[in-house]
Amino acid sequence: MKRIAVIFIVAVFLPSVFLAVLALRTAGEQQSILERQAAELFQKESDALAAQLADTILGRQREFADEVRLMLTTEDPAQLAGNFAPPKSDAGVPFAIEPNGNLVPPFQPDSRTTQYLADNRAFLNSDDSTELFPTSQNAYNSQVVSKISQNSVASVAQQESGSIERRVNPQNKAMAQSEPPPSKVVPRTSDFQSAISDGADGILARFDKDQLGLMLWTRPPEANGYVFGLALSSDDVDRIVKSVFPALVPSLPDALVAVLDENARPIATSDMDFLPEWKRPFVATEIGEMLPHWEVAIYLMSPEAIENSANLFSKTLISLIGLAVTAIFAGGLLVALDARRQLLIARQKSHFVSNVSHELKTPLTSIRMFAELLQRETTDSERRTRYLGIIADESERLTRLINNVLDFAKIENKRYEYQKQHIDLYPILKRVWDTQTEPLRERGFDCEWLADAPPFPVFADSESISRVVINLISNAEKYSNGTRRIVMSVNKRGGNVQVAIADRGIGVKGGEADRIFEAFHRSDDSLASGVQGSGLGLSLARTIARDHGGTVSYEPNPEGGSIFTLVLPLESGEAA
Ligand code: ADP
Repeated sequence: MKRIAVIFIVAVFLPSVFLAVLALRTAGEQQSILERQAAELFQKESDALAAQLADTILGRQREFADEVRLMLTTEDPAQLAGNFAPPKSDAGVPFAIEPNGNLVPPFQPDSRTTQYLADNRAFLNSDDSTELFPTSQNAYNSQVVSKISQNSVASVAQQESGSIERRVNPQNKAMAQSEPPPSKVVPRTSDFQSAISDGADGILARFDKDQLGLMLWTRPPEANGYVFGLALSSDDVDRIVKSVFPALVPSLPDALVAVLDENARPIATSDMDFLPEWKRPFVATEIGEMLPHWEVAIYLMSPEAIENSANLFSKTLISLIGLAVTAIFAGGLLVALDARRQLLIARQKSHFVSNVSHELKTPLTSIRMFAELLQRETTDSERRTRYLGIIADESERLTRLINNVLDFAKIENKRYEYQKQHIDLYPILKRVWDTQTEPLRERGFDCEWLADAPPFPVFADSESISRVVINLISNAEKYSNGTRRIVMSVNKRGGNVQVAIADRGIGVKGGEADRIFEAFHRSDDSLASGVQGSGLGLSLARTIARDHGGTVSYEPNPEGGSIFTLVLPLESGEAA
């Protein structure tokens, strides 16, 4: 039994607990897995939109460079610089710079141009340095670094320590940080000429009075060193972004996409009605040097949706795990119980073999012994009669045992053919009683027969029913334990005939009352009492009774000992 318990623990219990723990952990991590998946998906979209917006600005720069080159086909550079007004100049302030680095006075200056040049003349004339964001296309080189002014030491230090903060703090679990992550774009301090160096064209982004401004510039080879530029104010940039945003924005269910400026204020959003906490998007991407500190940000419209679906998944998974573990346990338990039962049966069978061999041997020894005595005893007829009686009794015991064993196999396997007939049970029971008790009486048993008035009409196989009663009387005798009294009563009760055989013997312990009807089972008391038996009699009796629509049951005798009762249905109209 211990081994079965150990096998159960090692093969079923531990693995299923291990699996359950693993599965529960997976369920617990489900929310972050779902969140990571959503974050990855949205991050891709956000990265793509940021790249497209950067391309848009670059595209505008190329467009400007093409316009200038087109104008240079009809005018020489100095002439063009003198009256520089590209076709789209309404979207910015055009300017031109001589090869010697001096700003060419504006052509038809309006108030915007005048204001712009007043603010930026020193920078454009390279008399002053300022913080700039280089684009990858820009001709930034080591010269710029060498020209870094004293003012820029702080920003270089910032750059090196990576401590320039981003304007937003993405909130998805995979990336969430208590502080906004450092920005990837960092300014360099430089004057205009150093910034453009010997490059052919580019974009310079800068913050002027905290307002983002872009300078698109170009120096075509055919311009003899003249630089042509277009300064876009923050309003111009907003307008450009707003105009391309509707065509570029991805449609994401349950999410809002926005472009945020350097102050994390929305410039364009996919849903005007939804107002999230702008600085705390789910994911975000910096657009880069062309629009420094601008971000594409994506917000979850119902952040609890991920949690809900993770919860639902976890609940389903936990229920399934519960079910699976219960099933494994139940299965394992059934297997263990069955193994235990098989073990018990195997043990009982081996008991049975030794019991039966013994039971066969005992009557055979007696028969042989008394037969030999008979051979020698030729004169004393009284003795001869006694010896013959013993031989007859022992033969009968032998026959009964062999019949029990043979019939048990047949009846249990449903191979026994009952010869059922409409009969009166009374004479059959009486005959059994008389033949069984006659030798008992001789051995000092007090046997009492109490019966209601016949008939007891039943549809039954008289042989089999006789065998049941013989077994019950034989048990009453075997387990009598000194108090030699047996009472058999035959009564009609509620449409049945009840045949009760009561003894005053050792009785059956409470816990054994059901088990004594199992094949091969013998109670510990009866084993201890040394009484021989096969453990088949009661099992056989109950099977036969059930095959006749009846039953055999045990109850303790109030006076001590046992009462075994065979109940069979009476044929209709005969109920008392
Ligand atoms: P056997 O008597 O050959 O062992 P049975 O199937 O007839 O087999 O009985 C099974 C067990 O039931 C017995 O071993 C005994 O423990 C118990 N039993 C049967 N009849 C009695 C009885 N009259 N009094 C006490 N115990 C009984």
